[in-house]
Amino acid sequence: MAAPVNPIDIQPRQVANKSDKKRFLEAIRMTLGVQSAAIRHNTQTFNRNRYGAVARIADYDAMKDRARQTKENAIANLPELLRQLEASVRTNGGHFYLAPTAADANRYICDVLVKHAVKLVVKGKSITSEETRLNHTLEAAGIEVAESDLAEFILQVADEQPSHIIAPALHYSRERITALFKRKFQTDLPLDTGEELTRFAREILRQKFIAADAGISGCNLIAADTGSFMLVESEGNIRMTTLLPPLHIAIAGIEKVVPSRKDFQPFIELLPASATGQPLTSYVSILRPPLPAPSFAAPGKSTASREFHMVLIDNGRSAMRQDPILHEALYCIRCSACLNVCANFETVGGHAFGGETYSGGIGGSWEAGTGKLMNARFSELCTGCSRCVPQCPVRIDIPWLNQNLRQRMNQADRTSFAKSLFGSLSGSAPEDRTAPLSKQFFANYHTFGKWGSQFAGLSNSSNQLALLRKLEQDVLGVDTRRELPPFPEKTWEQLFHAEPSAVKASLPGPGVAVLADTFTNYGTPERGMAVVRVLRAIGLDVVLTQSLPDGRAAMSQGMIATARQQARALAAMLQPYLQSGRKIVVVEPSVLAMFRFDNRHLLDDVSLVTALAASSYDPLQLLWDLASEHRIDLAKLFPASRSPLGTRLFYHAHCQQRTCNASSQTIDLLRAVGFDVATSTVECCGMAGSFGYKHDYYDLSMAVGADLFAQVRAAEQDGGERVLVASGVSCHDQLGAGLGRKVRHPAEVLAGTLHG
Ligand code: SF4
Ligand code: SF4
Repeated sequence: MAAPVNPIDIQPRQVANKSDKKRFLEAIRMTLGVQSAAIRHNTQTFNRNRYGAVARIADYDAMKDRARQTKENAIANLPELLRQLEASVRTNGGHFYLAPTAADANRYICDVLVKHAVKLVVKGKSITSEETRLNHTLEAAGIEVAESDLAEFILQVADEQPSHIIAPALHYSRERITALFKRKFQTDLPLDTGEELTRFAREILRQKFIAADAGISGCNLIAADTGSFMLVESEGNIRMTTLLPPLHIAIAGIEKVVPSRKDFQPFIELLPASATGQPLTSYVSILRPPLPAPSFAAPGKSTASREFHMVLIDNGRSAMRQDPILHEALYCIRCSACLNVCANFETVGGHAFGGETYSGGIGGSWEAGTGKLMNARFSELCTGCSRCVPQCPVRIDIPWLNQNLRQRMNQADRTSFAKSLFGSLSGSAPEDRTAPLSKQFFANYHTFGKWGSQFAGLSNSSNQLALLRKLEQDVLGVDTRRELPPFPEKTWEQLFHAEPSAVKASLPGPGVAVLADTFTNYGTPERGMAVVRVLRAIGLDVVLTQSLPDGRAAMSQGMIATARQQARALAAMLQPYLQSGRKIVVVEPSVLAMFRFDNRHLLDDVSLVTALAASSYDPLQLLWDLASEHRIDLAKLFPASRSPLGTRLFYHAHCQQRTCNASSQTIDLLRAVGFDVATSTVECCGMAGSFGYKHDYYDLSMAVGADLFAQVRAAEQDGGERVLVASGVSCHDQLGAGLGRKVRHPAEVLAGTLHG
C-alpha cells in the first residue's frame, strides 16, 4: 500500500473538487495538519463577535422574518424581477446580459474587455466569478487580473481557492502569509506584522488600481426597480474597483435581485452582524452605474462617462428554484454565520468542508446546484448538529438540505445484493437500500441494539475481538479506535418493569411518558432509570413507552424514507399518551430535537407535529419547570451535599439540546441544589451521533473534541478534578474517549443524592 501523502505536500487546488472520496479525505488531512489553528482562531472570533452583535439588535427575530420574507418573495417572482431589472439597467444607460451558463458569462465579459483593448482588470468582492472561473478565461485571453481584496490577493499569490465565503484566506496565519510573500516576491522587506504585510500589498495594489483599464465587482443585492446595487466591504477596494477604471462590469447570480432599494434595509444590518459581528461594515456602497463623467481620473485615464455592464448568471439557479429542497439555498445572503458556528468547519475550514467555490454547511447545496451532485460530497461533514439553524439570518434549515443531498448521493450509489439484503434485514426502507452498508448500519442501530442486548454476553465478548473490530471497520466503517458501548444485560424497558414505583404520585395531572429511546434502552439503561427515579421523586406518575426507532439516526445518514417510516410509527405509538394529557420526556437530546424541529419534514399530520413539539421535554428542563410551578424545594429533595460523587461538576450540554433551549435549566437546577458547576462553551463535542465513530472522520472528530477536553482541564486547574456530566450519549462517549473518565447524565447525579 502506498504511504499516505504528507499533509504539507497537499495543495488545496488538488483537493478542491470533492467528487473523489480519496481527495476529500486528503483534504481533511491537509487542513488538520496545516490550517486548523488559524481557521479555529478566526472563525471562533467571528462567532463570538456575532453572538454579541445579534444580541444588540433589538428586533433581531422580526428582522430575520422580514429578510426571509423578502428573499422568499423575490425568488418566487424572479422571472418578473429580472425583466424589470434589465429595463432599469438599460434605462440607466448600462448594458445587461443574462448568462445561462458560467461559460456564457465568461465569454461575454471577455468579449467586452477585448473590445476595449483591456490589458489589466482589477477585481474584487465576487465569489460568483470564482464559480465561473473567470480569471482562467481572462488570463487565457492575455488579460491580467489583479485581485483587489487583500485576502483574495493572498490567494491569487498562493494559487488557492477560497476557504471561507467572506474571509477567503482565513486559513492563513500571519506567519504563513509572511513566508508566502517572501517566497513569491523575493523581498527582504520586513513583513512580520499585519501592518507591514498590509502596506506591502497596498503598494502593489495601488499601482494596479491606477493602471487598470476595467474593474469587475460582485453585488450583495440588486434592486430591480432602479438597477441600483449594494456592496458591503471592509477595505474600500471595491469603491476603487467600481469608481476608478473607465469600464465597470458587475457579475452576480440571479438570486441577488430583490424588488427595490428599500428591501436592502434588513440586510444592511443582518449581514455584518451575522458575518463578523460588526454593527455595520466600514463601507456600504449603493451604486447606480454607469457613473457620469467623474470629477477626477488616474493619470493618463479618461474622464469621459463610464461604461457599465451588468452580467447576471443562471448556471443552475433556475433549476435550483424549481427544486423542492435546493430552492431554499437561493435565500442565502452569504453571511457565513453557519460556517463560523459549525464545530467541524471551525476545525477544518472550507478547503475540506467546501468545494471548488462554496464552503460550509450551505456550500454543498451551492456546489450541487451550480455543478454536479457529487461535488457536494463534503456536505458529509454536516453532522446535523443544528447549531447553525438559529444563527441563519434568513432561517435556512441547513442540516435538512444536507440530509437531502446525502439521500440523493445514496440513491446515486450503485446497488448490490449485499446492500439490499443487509437493508431488508436491518430495517431500511426499500428506497434507501442503495446506501452504503456503513450508513445502513448506523441508521438501523435499533435492530442491532435489540439483537445485541438479547445476547449481551456473546455480543460484548465478540466486540473485543481484534479481527471482528477490523472487519467492522472495513465493512461498516466503525473505527477500531472507538470503544463500542457494551450491550446491557437488561434493557431499560426490562429494568423499568422490574422496579415499580415505591411511592404514589403526588403531583396533580396525568403525569409523564418517558420515551425509551434506542440509545438509552440498548446502551445506557442506568441513565434512563436515573431519569425515572428523579421524576418520581418530585411526585410524578411515570410510565415508560415502548422502545421504537425514532428516525434520527436514519435521517443523519440521508436515509429519509427510513427516517419517515420510523418517525411515523413512533408518533403513532406516542399519540395515545398525548391524548391522555401526558407530557413526553425525551432523555436523548438529538431525539428531542426531532420532536421540536425535524418531524415537520417527516410527518404529514401537522397537528401531531405541533403537539409533539409542544409536549416534549428534556428531563431536567421539566423538573425545573415543575419545581417552579409547584414550588417544590429541589435543594431539599436533591441536596448536593448528599452526593456520593462530590459537589464539583463539569457539565457539557448537547448541541441540539442548546438549539432546543433546553440546556440552561439543567445548569440552573444543578446550581440551585448546591453543585459547583463549570460549563463548556463549545458548539459541539465532535462526536455528533455516529459521526465520530466513523473511520473516515475519527481524526476530525477528536480534533473537534480537543477544545472541549481543554475546557475541562482548564476548569480543573483550581480545586482539582470535577465529575464529568453530559446530557447526550454521544457527548458521554466523546468525553470518555478524550479524558478516559466516566461521564454521567445529570439525572444520575441527582438520583445519587436520593440515596446519599
Ligand atoms: S448542522 Fe451543525 S454540522 Fe451541519 S452545517 Fe450546521 S453547524 Fe455545521
Ligand atoms: S445559509 Fe444562512 S447563515 Fe449560512 S451563509 Fe447563507 S445566509 Fe448566512
